[in-house]
Amino acid sequence: MTLPAINVKKLVKRFGTATVLQDIDLEVPEGKVSCLIGPSGSGKSTLLRCMAFLEESSEGMITVNGEALGFFENARGERERLPAAQIRAVRSQIGMVFQQFNLWPHMTALGNVSEALKTVHKVPKTEAEDRAMAQLKKVGLENRANHYPSQLSGGQQQRVAIARALTLSPKIMLFDEPTSALDPELTGEVLNVMRDLAAEGMTMVVVSHEIGFAATVGNQISFLDQGRLLFTGAPADVFAKPRHPRLEQFLDTYL
Ligand code: ADP
Ligand code: MG
Repeated sequence: MTLPAINVKKLVKRFGTATVLQDIDLEVPEGKVSCLIGPSGSGKSTLLRCMAFLEESSEGMITVNGEALGFFENARGERERLPAAQIRAVRSQIGMVFQQFNLWPHMTALGNVSEALKTVHKVPKTEAEDRAMAQLKKVGLENRANHYPSQLSGGQQQRVAIARALTLSPKIMLFDEPTSALDPELTGEVLNVMRDLAAEGMTMVVVSHEIGFAATVGNQISFLDQGRLLFTGAPADVFAKPRHPRLEQFLDTYL
């Protein structure tokens, strides 16, 4: 058994007095696609954000490739916070793509993809742009490198956002409803890029209402409902009938 890429143990997340994630246990296998499905407000984004340490968990532990993320258990069995530099190091292994593409409007596609390499990672301009160009090519947009976001379709903008995350060489990619802001005819091109990435063996966690994608590309599917993971399993098992009534209700809404 290889170590899970991400291991979530007894995770609890509260906002004030509201508990939005309760007792979450989830192993994200390396090189596989894990899908998270569940109704709106069930805590999917919060769980992804905790995995990326964009949110601090209230209880429990998350390890990424065997390294604690944010909190770890010390020799006395207490929960202790990692130093910020260490959190950043673990976090740099994780790329994230959001529903809103969040591209910089005043920068071209190439500028958007190469910016962090140049400013954060101090990669020389030419090398940064070569690496950015290679990623744009991978998402099929090398001929749009000099276009600004406003000159690109939503699907193209999201592919730029994916290229931007990939250019930092993450080991794990998290997708939070990457196609939900797109017109239906544009979702396919984004899902295809994600499918290619999965075929290359990228470890991915995907929150999506695209049940077809989850069923065909997902290796494991987890169903989140009211802050609890009701179950995790292979697509065939999760969708097999008879289904859990809450899942049935959810599928009725989205299928
Ligand atoms: P989903 O992505 O499944 O729609 P979210 O993770 O966005 O669900 O939200 C789960 C619950 O947490 C919701 O009730 C939401 O209102 C609440 N929530 C999310 N973010 C915050 C926040 N920053 N402050 C307070 N409540 C939040
Ligand atoms: Mg969400």
